[in-house]
Amino acid sequence: MPDRSFLSWPFFEDRHRDLAERLDTWCAKNLPVDHHDVDAACRELVTKLGRDGWLKPTAIDTGNPGPLDVRTLCLTRETLARHDGLADFAFAMQGLGTGALSLFGTPEQQQWLAKTRAGKAISAFALSEPRSGSDVANMEMTATREGDDYVLSGEKTWISNGGIADLYIVFARTGEAPGAKGLSAFIVPSDAKGLTIAERLEVIAPHPLARLSFDRVRVPGPALIGKPGDGFRIAMSVLDVFRSTVGAAALGFARRALDESIKRVAERKLFGAPMAELQMVQGHIADMALDVDAAALLVYRAAWAKDMGAARVTREAAMAKLYATDRAQSVIDKAVQLHGGDGVRKGHIVEGLYREIRALRIYEGASDVQKVVIARQVMGAA
Ligand SMILES: Cc1cc2nc3c(=O)[nH]c(=O)nc-3n(C[C@H](O)[C@H](O)[C@H](O)COP(=O)(O)OP(=O)(O)OC[C@H]3O[C@@H](n4cnc5c(N)ncnc54)[C@H](O)[C@@H]3O)c2cc1C
Repeated sequence: MPDRSFLSWPFFEDRHRDLAERLDTWCAKNLPVDHHDVDAACRELVTKLGRDGWLKPTAIDTGNPGPLDVRTLCLTRETLARHDGLADFAFAMQGLGTGALSLFGTPEQQQWLAKTRAGKAISAFALSEPRSGSDVANMEMTATREGDDYVLSGEKTWISNGGIADLYIVFARTGEAPGAKGLSAFIVPSDAKGLTIAERLEVIAPHPLARLSFDRVRVPGPALIGKPGDGFRIAMSVLDVFRSTVGAAALGFARRALDESIKRVAERKLFGAPMAELQMVQGHIADMALDVDAAALLVYRAAWAKDMGAARVTREAAMAKLYATDRAQSVIDKAVQLHGGDGVRKGHIVEGLYREIRALRIYEGASDVQKVVIARQVMGAA
């Protein structure tokens, strides 16, 4: 039985506790799905999650608009990740992909949200390029005004849901100013003429991922989100909401690794007694439990602060993401160690977690970038 004591922390309201319990029951019945074909698996997950109402928190309800509830996003990601990394991925991308529309979209643009919240359309967030990952200001893709339209040319890479998405939120250079101040955000439907999947990318924990090519992709003026030149601010505002949820996913992986390890050391006998009686094993379990709780405190502190109306939670979200992903890596590594040979056996749950966790320290701002962000925030405040 996974530890639920954190649900009594003051960060949560009863509706959060109720959601965590109900979702856990749902996950036990519906997950994991067959991962052999990741495209099919993701489509199935989005359909199922949407059908049963779990995607609703990923975007605002246009009929009853209110802010995104970051605690709900985090609790959902943590719970899904504990059961199935791909389910967490499918959920997370619906939110990241539509975040710009929830936060900055016009009512017309927000019409997409009814579909993504119901699992009837899949979304993607297209910021990174071959020469512009951490260095967003170096973006090369252009969006040129031609009459009432914009024409997008260039490449995006590492785009999650690339190949299965119905809509892409694409960032491109419109040139109002040099660097980050000359970027804008656009809605590009996947069937736009000139948009092609240049390459499908395979990674150690497979999910739909692609490099996209934009060859004079024409979108109408109203596809622009916000104002020309707002792109960087929009991207950073979306990440401000979703960055702590990456920490929550890491937390879910770490909790699962800890649960599997507790089971393993209770069952496995070494030198005539359960492994759990070896003090060095107890030391590992204690370190893992401490890492899990400390990460949870940072993740839910960031989520709570945002939900309480903080305009920006840059420092809190960066700390949550950095710490939770880093510590989850360590917790999972210890779990692999405690499982001995089984820990590296293909198909074992901890082997899967070991592959799942790694990319979280790279995407949505690499760990090193989070350190720069935190340092700037605390030095600036001082
Ligand atoms: C599985 C996966 C899914 C992704 N999904 C998406 C997506 O859906 N949409 C999207 O737009 N992008 C996505 N990305 C891209 C991701 O955001 C980038 O990979 C990330 O920003 C790093 O960029 P890069 O790969 O170009 O590495 P680089 O920018 O070349 O950085 C390489 C390394 O340099 C170090 N570094 C970078 N900056 C600094 C610094 N200031 N100080 C010190 N060290 C530094 C870090 O260790 C970093 O890992 C995804 C990536 C992966 C791996």
